[in-house]
Amino acid sequence: MKADIDNLPYFCDMSKHQEHDDILVQLLKHHGLRNTTFRKEVLGIFRAHEGRALSHNEIERELDDWDRITLYRTLKSFEVKGLIHQTPDINGIAKYAICGHSCNQVQHDDRHAHFHCTSCNTTLCLHDSIESLHYSLPQEFVVLEAKVILNGICASCN
Ligand SMILES: [Zn+2]
Ligand SMILES: [Zn+2]
Ligand SMILES: [Zn+2]
Repeated sequence: MKADIDNLPYFCDMSKHQEHDDILVQLLKHHGLRNTTFRKEVLGIFRAHEGRALSHNEIERELDDWDRITLYRTLKSFEVKGLIHQTPDINGIAKYAICGHSCNQVQHDDRHAHFHCTSCNTTLCLHDSIESLHYSLPQEFVVLEAKVILNGICASCN
């Protein structure tokens, strides 16, 4: 029933719909993932919220039909293949955001800081690399990974 409504020209410009679908299929293929309706749907949500990190709950709210295990596995495979990365929010809850073009299964570099609004709970990817921050490490110490979260108030809550 839902599919019929989506296909009505009054609700949807089919050429745009097709174009959008092609991009999702290409993205999945590029990252070595078989395209399934569910994967396309989840990836479409990330693309619609580019630059924002979404929690499981936020993703679930936008899905028509889902089960927890399939969603969990989908997010896991996206993460492994370099499509999305994870960042914890202030409460330690995992949030996921779409990666930059340079990420793939081998090279998955998302060392940027994230901004978390403590009022509306929105988490955003910032473009600055965490390498722009300088720490005085003891001699022969090496940083392998860092999670930088800036907590504050976003423009719409301010
Ligand atoms: Zn990545
Ligand atoms: Zn906010
Ligand atoms: Zn990010």
